[in-house]
Parts: sequence; C-alpha cells; structure tokens
Amino acid sequence: MGVTTALLDLVLPPRCAGCDAPGVLVCPRCTAELRGEPARRTPAPSPPGLPECWSATVYAGAARRAILAYKEHGRTALAHPLAGALALTAGTAVGGHPVVLVPVPSSRPALRRRGHDPVGRLAVLAAGYLRAAGWPATAVQALAQRRRVADQAGLNALQRAENLSSALRLTPGASGSLAALLGGGRVVVLVDDVVTTGATLAEAARVLRAAGAEPRLAVTVAATRRRERPRDDHAR
Ligand SMILES: [Zn+2]
Repeated sequence: MGVTTALLDLVLPPRCAGCDAPGVLVCPRCTAELRGEPARRTPAPSPPGLPECWSATVYAGAARRAILAYKEHGRTALAHPLAGALALTAGTAVGGHPVVLVPVPSSRPALRRRGHDPVGRLAVLAAGYLRAAGWPATAVQALAQRRRVADQAGLNALQRAENLSSALRLTPGASGSLAALLGGGRVVVLVDDVVTTGATLAEAARVLRAAGAEPRLAVTVAATRRRERPRDDHAR
C-alpha cells in the first residue's frame, strides 16, 4: 500500500496532507501549523529518566493528519516538511551545540507493514537540514527493537512502561560510533514523531544512558495533549 500511495503522489496532482487542498503536498497554512511553535512539552507526569521533551507543535489538526499520512498511509514525500519541523525544533532546543540525533526505532512488524522506517528517515533528513544551515549534526541509528512490542495504543501509562521494559537494545557498532561522536563534544538528542506518555523515549534514554551516551533532550514533531490521547492511531 505504501508503494502504491507513493506512486500515486507522483502521477496525480497532490493534495495537502493537512487540509486536502489541491495542488500541494502541504499548503502554506498547514506548513505553518506543522512547524507550530517549538517549545518544551514534557509529558506530566513523566516516567523516570525521561529527558526534557521539545516538540514543534501539538498532535492535532494538520500536524496530526500529516504525521498519520506519512507514517501509516505511505505518503513518504511528507518526510521533508516533517523533518524540517524537527530540525527547527532541535535547533531551538539545543541552542548551538553540535548534535547526534538518535531515532526511536519502529518494531519489525511495523517496518514490514509500512515498508519504510518513518522516524529513522526523519532523523537523517533533519540532520541534513541542520548541516545545510551550517550546524554540525549527525543521525545515528543506535537503537533497535529487542522483541515484538504489542500495539501501544489503548494501554495506560503504567502498562506502556511495563510493555516497553527492555524492549530496546543498542545496534551492533553503536557504542563505538556514539563514543567517537561524543568525544567530539556532541549532544545526544532522541528523535520521535510523537510524544504521548514519554514511556518509549524514557526507555530509549535508559538504553543510551547505560551505554554512556546520556541524551540531553528528546525532540518530536508533535506532543499529544494529555486529555486528547489518540486511542488507536499512534501505533509504534
Ligand atoms: Zn493545507
């Protein structure tokens, strides 16, 4: 399905992923909504070990529709505006330090179903945007899923934390590449598309911390408002 949708994007006039207006991938109004206002939006309460969380915007409206279209409906071209929002947010949050962006990995079944690694791609593109702006930035796929994780949607915060315990591991070679980059004074920044309870990011931070690569921040495109948890549309 992903490939078909990506092909349709090439052969048909595009429609805005945020508002369905014809002729553009994301219209200027929805682009402004997507970039939102980079700000600290750490979930409260937050799980132990969760780094400070920054996001471009809240998970609603055009941002929510664009993230879902990118992640679940194969509109891979949306990686560019979404990564742009991430890069702006990372730039605002980190304030001048060279960065290593570490994406939160998708589960293997999700990778197969989607046919692409949506967050990994965002991290690579966002690092490219930062470098193009003269900012030392690298994306390192340092984390992988250890085992199958049940769909997180519909679980409460405690269930999510339990479900995720030791779900992530370092990828082979990650320790060496992180050590080399951190030796150069870089700051580790976790990257995900959406933060909801923060359980996934806290788990990712725990694994990196154990490897001596403490993440200073987490940056996401959007943050779920506490009272508007999506029940079934934010699957990892
Ligand atoms: Zn629009």
